[in-house]
Amino acid sequence: MKKFINANIYKSNAKEIIVADGKFLEIGNNLRVCDNTIDLKNKLVLPPYVDPHLHLDYVYSLSEGLGAKTGTLFEAIALWPKFKKNLKASEVRERAIKGIYDEVSQGVQYIRTHIDVTDPNFTALKVMLDLKEELKDKLDIQIIAFPQEGMYTYKGGRDLVEEALKMGADVVGGIPHFELAREFGEKSIHDIVNLSIKYNKLIDVHCDETDDPNSRFLELLNALVLMEGIGEMTTASHTCSFGSADNSYAYRMFDLFKRSKMNFISCPTENIYLQGRQDSYPKRRGLTRVKEFLEEGINIAFAQDSINDPWYPLGNGNMMNILDNGIHLAQIMSPNEIENDFDLITYNGAKCMMLDQYGFKIGNPANFIVLDENNVFDAIRKRVNVIASIRNGEYLFKRETKYDIKLDL
Ligand SMILES: [Zn+2]
Repeated sequence: MKKFINANIYKSNAKEIIVADGKFLEIGNNLRVCDNTIDLKNKLVLPPYVDPHLHLDYVYSLSEGLGAKTGTLFEAIALWPKFKKNLKASEVRERAIKGIYDEVSQGVQYIRTHIDVTDPNFTALKVMLDLKEELKDKLDIQIIAFPQEGMYTYKGGRDLVEEALKMGADVVGGIPHFELAREFGEKSIHDIVNLSIKYNKLIDVHCDETDDPNSRFLELLNALVLMEGIGEMTTASHTCSFGSADNSYAYRMFDLFKRSKMNFISCPTENIYLQGRQDSYPKRRGLTRVKEFLEEGINIAFAQDSINDPWYPLGNGNMMNILDNGIHLAQIMSPNEIENDFDLITYNGAKCMMLDQYGFKIGNPANFIVLDENNVFDAIRKRVNVIASIRNGEYLFKRETKYDIKLDL
């Protein structure tokens, strides 16, 4: 048994945590005395960061795999199919572990990853299923069967998704706006919902990741999951086009999203980089309506999406950076908004992933992180680091605080 004291727990008045057998035994104040007591020095304590949208089979493929010369988006996209054909399991594994390290070493303990299953050998999927099991003491991984090249841009695409679900993928993915015609995009949405029901899997679709305000696959996805009563199991990722739709349409849809209880994920750094490319000025931001979703009580989380892949050259697994960019781009910085902004990289992502043992509840695994500040406002303002990550009551890592230096001014 061990006791953590002087913990400024996010959205709680409790300052003390007692852990036994890797689980939260007690959370409160003036708890019983323990021999093993750890002083967290009034630092801010959060549940671990959640990254609910990351392509772990692509990480570092831009600089290490593709041998990019100019580093432009178009060069990388042209190289990708060739690269994909020659995927080696050992290389996929090495790169994925590097990406996981980036994230876990900065406070993430939950990753939902899209794995491209338009590879009949399922090389990356097999690697990821192994890693999920091997690394379960360090982090939880959810795997999406993601058809990067679509279900109907060639024959057999849909069946590969089904096969991946049979092999153990947790979530059905899709990319309807990339299908060759609207009809095929709609067909893929029906397939996604049917596969979810058939195999009892969650849904997470790359949905309407375009500036085209007429891309309306989100509307169909929402209607189907509403009718089937599986909205809470469903996430629409990106939905950039919804940020370009007009208000009369958007407000009608808010009501329908509330009825279905569907979740949303926005990838702020990725979409600000990729969208608006055909705009002159004014130039759109390419983000979905994050601020309005929050105001309407519709669940939305932020995610990293890419680390150095053909779609986005940067990325380092630092969720504070994602939060920082996201709250600027979505303009969510009123005092009340800032007090709740950490939800976007913690509880909201956990809700998308339907993590039922997440957060500070008695009996849950004792998983939490410690930030290098005492309160939410200063932690966000200073974009502070995670100085400790605790999993099942044990330190995954601990690092020095930046305030250890002394500077005379
Ligand atoms: Zn993605």
